[in-house]
Amino acid sequence: MKKPFISNEALEKIAAQYTTPFYLYDEKGIRETARKVMQAFAWNKGFKEFFAVKATPTPKLLQILKEEGCGADCSSYTELLMSDACGFKESEIMFSSNVTPAEDYQLARKLNVTINLDDITHIDFLEKVADIPTTISCRFNPGGKFAIANNIMDNPGDAKYGMTRAQMTEAYKILMKKGVRHFGMHAFLASNTVTNEYYPELARQLFQVAVELKKETGASIEFINLSGGVGIPYKPEQTSNDILAIGEGVRKVYEEVLVPAGMGNVAIYTEMGRFMTGPYGALVTKAIHEKHTYKEYIGVDACAANLMRPAMYGSYHHITVMGKEDLPCDHKYDITGGLCENNDKFAIDRMLPKIAMGDLLFIHDAGAHGFAMGYNYNGKLHSSELLLKEDGSVEMIRRAENPSDYFATFDFTGLFK
Ligand SMILES: *Cc1c(COP(=O)(O)O)cnc(C)c1O
Repeated sequence: MKKPFISNEALEKIAAQYTTPFYLYDEKGIRETARKVMQAFAWNKGFKEFFAVKATPTPKLLQILKEEGCGADCSSYTELLMSDACGFKESEIMFSSNVTPAEDYQLARKLNVTINLDDITHIDFLEKVADIPTTISCRFNPGGKFAIANNIMDNPGDAKYGMTRAQMTEAYKILMKKGVRHFGMHAFLASNTVTNEYYPELARQLFQVAVELKKETGASIEFINLSGGVGIPYKPEQTSNDILAIGEGVRKVYEEVLVPAGMGNVAIYTEMGRFMTGPYGALVTKAIHEKHTYKEYIGVDACAANLMRPAMYGSYHHITVMGKEDLPCDHKYDITGGLCENNDKFAIDRMLPKIAMGDLLFIHDAGAHGFAMGYNYNGKLHSSELLLKEDGSVEMIRRAENPSDYFATFDFTGLFK
C-alpha cells in the first residue's frame, strides 16, 4: 500500500497555515535517495548524478541535492541561470539540450559547463555562435526499438534526440580536429522504466559503442552518461526499482565490456529526475465541491494546471483521502479540477472512501514533472511549494503565484496596476 510521508494530524496543521493547494516535499526521502544512488555507484571513481532540473526546478531542492553531491542537468537558458545561482559551477552542470538556441549555447560556454551535443549539425552551430570547448559529449540514438528480453520499452527510432551510430564516429572525428581532447557519450532510450534491467542494458549498448568509437577515432572517452529514465512505481501494485541492484548491474557490464578494452577509468554519469524526487513530493488539495449527476464527482481546489500528468498522459497518481486511510474504498469518484476542460481529472472511476467537503487529498508521486509542468490556462495560478524538513518543521520554498504575477507581462500597458 502507498502511504503518505506525513500523518493526517501534521498535514492538517500545515493546511491551517498555508492555503491549499500546495506541493509538499519530503527532505528526508530526497536525501536518503541521493545517498543510496551514491552508494549504488560508489564502485565508479568519477560517478556523478546530475539531477534533471526540469523535473523539479525549485532552488531549495537543488541545493539539498547539491549538498548530497549531485550536479545539475540543464536543458535551457533559465535552467542554467537557476543552477548557477544555486551554486553549481562548471563541470557540476551538464547541458543536455536539443533544438538549442544560440543564446543558450553562449551562456553554457560563459559558465563553462559540460555541453552534450544533440546533433552533428550543432558542432558548426556551436562554433559559429560561441566556440568549441576542449571537453564535450555527444548524444547517441541507436534507432529501432529498445527492448529488454523481448519486452519493448520504448521507440528510439521515433525519437527526435541524438545522433545515429555513423554520425557519432563522424562527430568525434570532426570535434578532434577542432581541438576537443576529452569526450563523453550520452543516451536516453526509455522513460519511466520500472525494472532493474534498464540501466544495465543501456550501459551495455553504450559501452560497446564507446569501445568501437575509441578504436575508430582514438578519442579519449572519459565519461558515459546513462541519463534519466529510471522510473518509480506510480501504481500501488508496482514494485520500486532497487538502485543498489541497478548500480551492481551496471558494474558487471562495466567489468565485462569497458575494463578489458582498457577503459577502466571511464566515469559513469546519470541524469535522473523522477527517481530522485518523484515519490517525495505530493500535491495536497482540498475537496470543495461534490456533484451528483451521471457520475459522482468530487471537485478539488487544484486542477490540471497544477499537475498535468493525468490529463496529458492519462497517468495514474495514487490518492489518499487524509484521515480516512483505514476506511473501505467503497465510493467510485471522478476527482476533478475546475478547468473548462473535461480532461481535468486527477482520477476517473477511482474507488475511495466517502469524501466530505474540506477533506484533504494527498496526490502521491508528484515530486518530479509535477509542479514543473504547471501552466496558467484559465487564469489558474501556480501553487506554493513547501518543504517538510527532517526535524518535522515546514518551510515555504516557493510562494504561490498571485494575480500580479499573472499580469506581470503586461506591466508595459499600465492596465493592471
Ligand atoms: C527528462 C530528462 C532527464 C530526466 O528524466 P527522468 O525521467 O526524470 O529521469 C534526464 N536527461 C535528459 C536529457 C532529459 O531530457
